[in-house]
Amino acid sequence: MNILLISTFEGGFQPNTIATAATPLIKAGFDVSILDTYVEGIVEEKISGKDLVAISVPLFDAVHAGIEMAKLVADKNPKAHITFFGQHATINANRLAGKYSDSCICGEWEQPLTLLAKHLSGDKQDKLPGVLSAEQAVKGEVIPPHMSRNHLDIPSRHLLPPLYKYPQKQINHLLESEEIVGSTEIARGCHHKCLYCSVFAAYGGKVILVPEEIVLQDVRNLVEGGMTHLTFIDADFFNAKYHGIKILRKLHQEFPQLTYDFTTRVDHILENKETLLEMKDLGVKFITSALEFPSEEVLDAVAKDTSVKDIEEAIRYLREVDIKLNPTFIMFNPWTKFEDLTTFRSFIEDNQLGDIVDPIQYETRLYLYKGSPLLHKDSIKKLDLEEHEFHYDWKHPDPKLDELYFEMLTPAEEGIFKRCCLKC
Ligand code: SF4
Repeated sequence: MNILLISTFEGGFQPNTIATAATPLIKAGFDVSILDTYVEGIVEEKISGKDLVAISVPLFDAVHAGIEMAKLVADKNPKAHITFFGQHATINANRLAGKYSDSCICGEWEQPLTLLAKHLSGDKQDKLPGVLSAEQAVKGEVIPPHMSRNHLDIPSRHLLPPLYKYPQKQINHLLESEEIVGSTEIARGCHHKCLYCSVFAAYGGKVILVPEEIVLQDVRNLVEGGMTHLTFIDADFFNAKYHGIKILRKLHQEFPQLTYDFTTRVDHILENKETLLEMKDLGVKFITSALEFPSEEVLDAVAKDTSVKDIEEAIRYLREVDIKLNPTFIMFNPWTKFEDLTTFRSFIEDNQLGDIVDPIQYETRLYLYKGSPLLHKDSIKKLDLEEHEFHYDWKHPDPKLDELYFEMLTPAEEGIFKRCCLKC
């Protein structure tokens, strides 16, 4: 059986999701190839002759491009079984299967994809946990996301385009140097339950740790591929208190020149001050943190479980230990009032963030994707919502804020990612 794994966009990074999907398929004896349209463009020859085409949708931003690829595959190779996998496949399984694909993987993808491939190749399986078939989707059946803890393996990076094809502008800006950036993860999911977050929508507060040996070998492979800086793409690097620091100690011993960044919450910065001090010496250069908006009302509305005071303390602490902060915001949201924009400006000045905020962060807008836990909130239900296939457009109660947003909006640029972290 010939399998094609397609990625369209993974935040401008080398696509981890298809690299992780490939390994168990190769081990099961299948012939696996990949297409990353982000760097390769649409290569139609890669589609022909494939029996199974699995399209990764790790981000909301990959859903529409993924659907376009599914339509192309259905047209050029109608015999191929098409499926979707990844975080937003879990969230949108019943909107994708039946309409755009023959099935959709819900939850962790490695085992369901491999079972599906076996099933399609004639090794009939009694059950396909985590696989929602088109027939089930059409009948309105919903299946639980497949979650397990022993399915992770070393990503097959040898199949992917080289790392230098994935330049990272904001990382180079923060590091003040041109780096070859690689990415990996030490865990999937997140323990927290911020209401806008697609990690929460897909994992429901569960976390799956990637075993240390897998991470270490993956990093060795990335270094062999030329990587000089590593981004941990976990939703939260402190998903487990000691997992990250243990890995960083070993990596620093093996690759003393390597530098790192990761994403974590304000409260974890404050709880792990000593550890961060050590991490700085191990090569951590900057931390991305979703600050949302410096107002208690907004923080409470998204159940962020932190305060403006904590945010300011975390900013001060990172400055003290000389780890840069890469703050992200949900600048335009339904709870911000026009006068709050003045407070926001003072917040940026008082905390000396002017030089480090990625300008794209000033035009971020709350995404109301279908499946978002926020949709159950009264303050959202009251909004003027316009329904689309995969999301809702919303209008701010104060039209001045929407006018300002549309005035500020710059045209989308390739690779520019307007979300608080790679997993949201
Ligand atoms: S926003 Fe961050 S901390 Fe909150 S649930 Fe999502 S990944 Fe976890």
